[in-house]
Amino acid sequence: MIEQKFVLRDDEIPRQWYNLAADLPSPMEPLQTPDGSPVTPEMLAPIFPMNLIEQEVSQERWIDIPEPLLALLSSYRPAPLKRAIRLEKALGTPARIYYKDESTSPAGSHKPNSALAQAWYNKEFGTKRLTTETGAGQWGSALCYASALVGLECKVFMVRISFDQKPYRKILMETWGGTCIASPSNETAAGRSFLEQFPDTPGSLGMAISEAIEAAVSDKSGDTKYSLGSVLNHVLLHQTIIGLEAKKQLALAGVKKPDIVIGCAGGGSNFAGLSFPFVNDKIHGAEITIIPVEPQSCPSLTKAPFAYDFGDTTGMTPLLPMHTLGHNFVAPPLHAGGLRYHGMAPLVSQATVEGLLEPESIPQMECYAAAIQWARTEGTICAPETSHAIAATIRQAKQAKEEGKEKVILFGYSGHGLLDLSGYDAYLNGRLEDYEIPEEEFRKSIESSLEGLPKAAEKRTGKW
Ligand SMILES: *Cc1c(COP(=O)(O)O)cnc(C)c1O
Repeated sequence: MIEQKFVLRDDEIPRQWYNLAADLPSPMEPLQTPDGSPVTPEMLAPIFPMNLIEQEVSQERWIDIPEPLLALLSSYRPAPLKRAIRLEKALGTPARIYYKDESTSPAGSHKPNSALAQAWYNKEFGTKRLTTETGAGQWGSALCYASALVGLECKVFMVRISFDQKPYRKILMETWGGTCIASPSNETAAGRSFLEQFPDTPGSLGMAISEAIEAAVSDKSGDTKYSLGSVLNHVLLHQTIIGLEAKKQLALAGVKKPDIVIGCAGGGSNFAGLSFPFVNDKIHGAEITIIPVEPQSCPSLTKAPFAYDFGDTTGMTPLLPMHTLGHNFVAPPLHAGGLRYHGMAPLVSQATVEGLLEPESIPQMECYAAAIQWARTEGTICAPETSHAIAATIRQAKQAKEEGKEKVILFGYSGHGLLDLSGYDAYLNGRLEDYEIPEEEFRKSIESSLEGLPKAAEKRTGKW
């Protein structure tokens, strides 16, 4: 019988996170303020606790995971590595397809890996309350779960379109003791101003971030902090536990190195978590094709410029050096809500500029077709975000077949889609179509968003 599951014992869980910032051949550009001066840790202190700010700016290669946090993570980790033998067979490919299954966490995705870490460090710091935003509801539910376990209050601003499309995510958040409101809301000045300008807006992650940051910093007691579910260095850091486990598990499967590593990328955290340990290998000479996959209708890495831009719509965050569609961009209401962000993690962006990554964008219909093929071969129902990684994997497996090559593909199964069935319903009943942003809209968003902001230098060594 072909082995399909590669599992680690509890005591084999990685005890350190890997920080790519220590190894990038051309270092990441610093965060800046709009007048072009660098952002200091003190400037971030009203928003985040200092222990997480230290991780955000750290240049250490390995960072210890505190023992009590490891105990929390161990409640559902190590996550299994599996082999998709039925999909391989259906495709008739000589490629071997392995996937890291992050759908087994309590919230059903990779998000608890950072939610637990952020909640734990906040609790240590003395924070009493967290605010955050959520797109599809995955991050909001993960943070409510983590807050419940460490003993914090949690308030979530959920993008309006998802709030309406995905009522069950709100129920999860409330079950874990959190509060969830639709964004834009009347609770913040930012929200009220969005509603005044765009009364019918579906909302966006950028707007919800503005609201959540305002809600945190306007509590002058300092007891409320803000928490972000992706994009920032410390979030990507927490997710590297995925790739570090996967490496040990591939060794169990007798694989020395994968030829191709694939992950879907919204803000970049699950992709980075899986791939950064392999990016490190690539920097040190290994031949690996590493592919972040994004929706064709929200193509930051494949189509947008690398520039300094705000992480939110009103400009409350520092300027981040990243591939960005512009902070004014409102993505079309596609079903992969977790991939609707205008920007991309600075570390993923810098690795792309360096040539270490080979991003792809895939239209929605191809992704749903892949999700259906997956469900009818491997059996599980993937999140709409995850379907992008599966679609890219199928493309690679078909190419391996054409070339007659026995490639090893590793992809990130970032989450299940059991609370996202409306997208499947739309696809199965012919109500879904592809959508490409009209050039004009794309150009306008970028121009209006980036006007007057400092430029970011595209630094690369030229080795890749
Ligand atoms: C949130 C989410 C994503 C996208 O976020 P990243 O930070 O890019 O990982 C992808 N897949 C699932 C299942 C998600 O919940």
